[in-house]
Amino acid sequence: MKTISVIVPCYNEQEALPIFYNEITQVLSRCEITYELIFVDDGSSDNTLPELRALSEKDSRVVYLSFSRNFGKEAAMFAGFCNASGDYIAIMDADLQDPPALLPEMLKILESEDYDSVATRRVSRKGEPPVRSWFARKFYQLINRISDVDIVDGARDFRLMKKSMVEAIVAMNEYNRFSKGIFAWVGFRTYWLPYENIERVAGETKWSFWKLTKYAIDGIINFSQIPLNISSWFGIVMTLCSFLFMAIIIIRKLIFGDPVAGWASTICIIIFISGLQLFCIGIMGQYLAKIYLETKHRPHFIVCESNSDTIVKVK
Ligand code: UDP
Ligand code: MG
Repeated sequence: MKTISVIVPCYNEQEALPIFYNEITQVLSRCEITYELIFVDDGSSDNTLPELRALSEKDSRVVYLSFSRNFGKEAAMFAGFCNASGDYIAIMDADLQDPPALLPEMLKILESEDYDSVATRRVSRKGEPPVRSWFARKFYQLINRISDVDIVDGARDFRLMKKSMVEAIVAMNEYNRFSKGIFAWVGFRTYWLPYENIERVAGETKWSFWKLTKYAIDGIINFSQIPLNISSWFGIVMTLCSFLFMAIIIIRKLIFGDPVAGWASTICIIIFISGLQLFCIGIMGQYLAKIYLETKHRPHFIVCESNSDTIVKVK
């Protein structure tokens, strides 16, 4: 019989965990498959870890890893991928926004059809603030236009993959991880399963608007070099404009004998150009900061506690 590893990143999910555990075990016990549940406690400050210890004592199929601090969902997913041994590997949130009820259908598609991965996308953003939805839609339009990977609007991290695809994902060892881009970058045949958005069952979202904005900018910088080209284009346009202005000033002087006047306009131009230059240096700085972090080769995560001895603790 095949095995499935279900990876669940958890950050302060004490309320949602028991509900999630009941639901997932019910669904998986109905499928003809052996399973392991890998819970990654991402440095929670509530009772998530004691909850996980209790679950692992009750059920030997539960593996938990607890990070030494909060490393973020990307690191938690990566730790899960590094430690998953199943033929199929699923990644899903603890808050039941990724409905376990979809898993049997996803398994069927992977087993019977020619796909390596079944990914999910939300067709609605019901229950989400309209401003957030608007920015999210604009982000997907922008990143698809300027990056070399295709990122589906409404794509969730919730996926079921074959081991070969997960091996490719683990091989991508970059420090700045943007999984939606990585999933698209590694390729493989992916089936997209649409579903209606569901609100989280308990607890609250860990993503403030600011955190999401930073995540979106990270996504763009990780998968597009277009922002770097912007400064070159500004430079070219500005140079052409300056030639034009020079010509106008010389002609005015020669024909009309006008003295060059205008302190205010000169200052405006200087401020405008300095602003543009700082903006462009800022963009370069963003890339430089990423390179700086990549070259340090710091680990993505550090596990300080687990119920399994065989897991990868630092990577
Ligand atoms: N999560 C995590 N580390 C973090 C933030 C979130 O492991 O720093 C987990 C969280 O416990 C949940 C999943 O990532 O299982 C998605 O988080 P959340 O539900 O807050 O995001 P949303 O669904 O609102 O986008
Ligand atoms: Mg959620």
